Amino acid sequence: MTPRLEAKARGEKVYSGRLCKLGHTKRYVSNRGCVVCSSEQSMARARVNRETVNRQARERHAAHPEMRKVISRRYYLNHTEEENARSRKFRRDNPKLVAFLCARWFKNNPDKVAHYNGRRRGRMYNATPANADHGIIDALYDIARDITEETGELWTVDHWVPLSKGGLHCHTNLTIMRGSANSSKNARIPDGPCPSIQKTLDALPHVIPDPDTIDMGEG
Ligand SMILES: [Zn+2]
Repeated sequence: MTPRLEAKARGEKVYSGRLCKLGHTKRYVSNRGCVVCSSEQSMARARVNRETVNRQARERHAAHPEMRKVISRRYYLNHTEEENARSRKFRRDNPKLVAFLCARWFKNNPDKVAHYNGRRRGRMYNATPANADHGIIDALYDIARDITEETGELWTVDHWVPLSKGGLHCHTNLTIMRGSANSSKNARIPDGPCPSIQKTLDALPHVIPDPDTIDMGEG
C-alpha cells in the first residue's frame, strides 16, 4: 500500500509523500497537493485577489449560516483575552457608533429587551428590602436624569453590589455614576463600601440651576 492509502486507511488528512518542487514532504490525502505550497498559493492568491476571496467567504457563510456562529464562537474561545481587549478598545474609540449599534439592536430585538427588562424588574422587586427608602431611591433616579439632560453626558443610577451578585435595590446600595463608568464596572463587585448619599451627591458635576426653576419662597 502507498503512504497515501495507508494514511487514508488511518483516517488521516495528510501523509508524507514524494518531495514537491520546493522539497516539502507533507501532502494532502484528498488531492496529493503539497501542504506548504497549497497554503502559500492560496495566501498569495488571497493577497492579489482580496475581493474574490472575500466574496467566496461570504458565499460560504451564506450557504452555511449555522457555521458562522460556531466558527466565531470557537475563535472567541481560543482568543478570549485579545478579543475582549479589542472589543474594549473598539468601544472606547467609537462611542457614537457603539451607541448607534446598541440602539439598533434594541430596536431589532424588542422580545429580548422585554425579556431582560422583565427579568431585571423581577430581580429588583425581589431585591427590594422592606426598609428601602423609596423617596431617596426615586430622587437618585431623578437627579441622574437631570444631570444627563444638563450635561449631555449619560449618568445612571448604579447598584453598587450588582443585583446579579445578590446586591439590594435599596438606597444604601445605590449610587450615581457616569454611564461609561457603570458599563465598564459591569457586574463586578467593587472593593469598598457603597458611597453614602452625601458622598454621591458631592461627587456629581456642579450643574448651575436654571434661575427660573429656583423656588425663592414667600419672602
Ligand atoms: Zn511544496
